[in-house]
Amino acid sequence: MVDLIGMNKSVSEFKKIDILGIPVDKVTTAQALEAFEDFLNTDGLSFIATPNPEIILAAQKDPEIISVLKAADLKIPDGTGIVKASAILGQPLSERVTGIDFSYAALKRLAELGKSVYLLGSRPGIAEKTAANLAEQIPGLKIAGFHDGYFKPDGEDAVVRDINSSGADLLCVAMGAPRQELFIYRHRKDLAVKAAIGIGGSLDVWSGELSRAPQFYIDHNIEWVYRLKQEPSRIKRIWKLPLFLIKVYIQRGKNGH
Ligand code: UDP
Repeated sequence: MVDLIGMNKSVSEFKKIDILGIPVDKVTTAQALEAFEDFLNTDGLSFIATPNPEIILAAQKDPEIISVLKAADLKIPDGTGIVKASAILGQPLSERVTGIDFSYAALKRLAELGKSVYLLGSRPGIAEKTAANLAEQIPGLKIAGFHDGYFKPDGEDAVVRDINSSGADLLCVAMGAPRQELFIYRHRKDLAVKAAIGIGGSLDVWSGELSRAPQFYIDHNIEWVYRLKQEPSRIKRIWKLPLFLIKVYIQRGKNGH
C-alpha cells in the first residue's frame, strides 16, 4: 500500500496529469512555491518529487519507484519532456518547473523566512563549495549542514543523524534519480526536516563545477545538447526522451484519442 507522507491538503487539490501511471501536479512555479511554504508549516516531512522522463521510464520497470513517486506530496513537472507529454495527452501544462530552478527559488524563500537547508550529495567538497556560493548569492540563507553523496548503505543512519542534529528545515538531496528519492522515502519517518527534495545534479551547477546551459539552449528546449557537451557520458541516456514520448503516444492511443 502506498504510504502517503505529509498528506498536505492544499496540495492534494492540484489537478493531476497521469503520465505513464505517474500522477504529476499541474502546477506553476508560483503555486509550487506556495505549497512549499505550506509544507514548512505542516507537521512531519513533506516530500517533493520532480518527475522527469527518465524516472518515469525507470518506474515502468520498478514498482518501488512508482510507490515512491506516488507517495510524494508534490510532484512538480520537471522539464521539457513532461511539458511535451502533457500536450500530447491533451492536458497542456502552462509552464515547465525545472527541479533546479524550483529548488533555487525555494532556497530564496527559505532565506526570506529565516529558515535553513541541509545539502546532501555530489562528490566530496562540492556541497561545501555550494554552501559557500549560495551563502554569498542568497543573503540570509542559513546552511545548516552538508555531506557528500558517496556513503555506504550502512552509513545512511549516521547521515540521517547529522541532518537531524543540524536542525535544518529543508533537505536537498543531490544523488541522482532514483537514488535520492529512495533515500528520502526510506528515511521519511526518521528525518526531522519539514521538507525534502531530490535535486539531481544541481549541486554540481551551484558549486560551479558544471555550468548551466546558456539561455538560448533553455529557450529552444535543447538544454540536453549543452549537458551532453559538458558530460559526454550522458550519451547513454539520450535515447530515453524519444522512447518516453513514444510511450506517451501509445498511452494517448489507449486513452482513446
Ligand atoms: N551522486 C551522488 N552519489 C552517488 C551517485 C551520484 O551523490 O552515489 C551525485 C553525482 O555526483 C551527481 C548527481 O548525483 O552530482 C547526479 O547528477 P545527475 O545530473 O546525473 O542527476 P539526475 O539527472 O540523475 O537526476
